[in-house]
Amino acid sequence: MSTTQSSDTEAPIEETAQVEVPAQYRRSAAPAALKMIIELKNVTKTFTRGSETLTVLDGLTLDVPEGSFEALMGPSGSGKSTLLNLIAGLDRPTSGAAQVAGADLMKMSDGDLATFRSRHIGFIFQAYNLMPVLTALENVELPLLLTKVSSSERRKRAQTALRVVGLEDRMGHYPRQLSGGQEQRVAIARAIVNDPTIIVADEPTGDLDRKAADDILTLLTKLNTEFKKTILMVTHDPAAAERATMTRHLDKGKLGA
Ligand code: ADP
Ligand code: MG
Repeated sequence: MSTTQSSDTEAPIEETAQVEVPAQYRRSAAPAALKMIIELKNVTKTFTRGSETLTVLDGLTLDVPEGSFEALMGPSGSGKSTLLNLIAGLDRPTSGAAQVAGADLMKMSDGDLATFRSRHIGFIFQAYNLMPVLTALENVELPLLLTKVSSSERRKRAQTALRVVGLEDRMGHYPRQLSGGQEQRVAIARAIVNDPTIIVADEPTGDLDRKAADDILTLLTKLNTEFKKTILMVTHDPAAAERATMTRHLDKGKLGA
């Protein structure tokens, strides 16, 4: 495998915050000459149930330039979550070629995939998926328990991530003491605490009211423009898709523009 990122002692998020982002990244699709961070070619994914085979992704090809913020739309059951899971290394394609952040997902062992995920992927879920018995700070520290980062450094990075999402005054709160929008902010802090290359978000605003959803979208936009995270977001909300630099549509296992 050939993941590109460095050791566990890389710079915290804060230090990369001030980099100016070229205008073309902000509002329009990035030019084709840019480096592709996700490259899927002819990817299929089938699930077998008893004697039945269900083809969910059917020869799908996708190139995502580094630094883009893309929305993925499509009917329920069209394979959006399946596609995100493949890109995030949570599942594997049945066939095809899949390169993400320099790693060949088809050739990696389960252990390699776990390392790939912890270095490159921040995952945000619709239902936040926080641990109810842990505080906001402890939830955000969780991904770092899989790394060699010391406990004091862990705390420092989690505090930084919570500051980035605007929750510096809620670090000791438990999920039940937070609003839905705040819970999703904690989940986003958890997703960025490893300083991932790519953020994948599966309907991140699906459980939120308009105001909270807009705040989350503003935060994702900031992570894209200021922190240069590549973002792939599944959404049903046209207003959410509007905030992305481009929207793709998945239907019958294939992508259209
Ligand atoms: P979407 O996110 O677009 O609503 P999904 O990717 O969740 O769609 O699911 C696409 C199809 O794949 C559905 O028919 C679903 O039932 C099926 N599917 C998803 N995951 C599995 C699985 N682990 N085993 C069997 N079938 C699955
Ligand atoms: Mg889904």
